[in-house]
Amino acid sequence: MKIIKNNVNSLFVLSTLNRSGYRTTATRRKIIDAIFSLDNSFTVEDLIQNLPDLGRATIFRNVKVLKDLQIICQVFLDNGQSVYQLDFESSLESHHHHLICSKCKCIQEFNSGELEGLLRAVSEEMSFEIDTHRLELYGYCSSCKTSKPSDVQI
Ligand SMILES: [Zn+2]
Ligand SMILES: [Zn+2]
Ligand SMILES: [Zn+2]
Repeated sequence: MKIIKNNVNSLFVLSTLNRSGYRTTATRRKIIDAIFSLDNSFTVEDLIQNLPDLGRATIFRNVKVLKDLQIICQVFLDNGQSVYQLDFESSLESHHHHLICSKCKCIQEFNSGELEGLLRAVSEEMSFEIDTHRLELYGYCSSCKTSKPSDVQI
């Protein structure tokens, strides 16, 4: 298993857009700057509020571009909502999963060859061709789990 560390900066994002044939317009730069200024995760509504001079449709369209290029990833919360965050690793097609802390709301990323192997085995055993999958783990991060009420010594 590999814990993915955040090594992405805005230069990487701009060069990824360029390489993929997208122009780095002033609008896109504004959206990217706003994403970097919001900490950890964000919703499209957060961006809309932070960028009042850009239209909703423009923001939605650009979020989709960033998601399709795997610059940002969509994280599904246990309340049925989803948020976005910058993908931690500066390489394209970095398939990974999320650990979501219920207390501080931090989101960590990891990938695991063993886990993917297990899913391939399920696919073979069930003769089911898996197109895509997602796995989000909910719980308490290393700094929050120590302060969980159940762990308090009496
Ligand atoms: Zn992610
Ligand atoms: Zn936490
Ligand atoms: Zn996976």
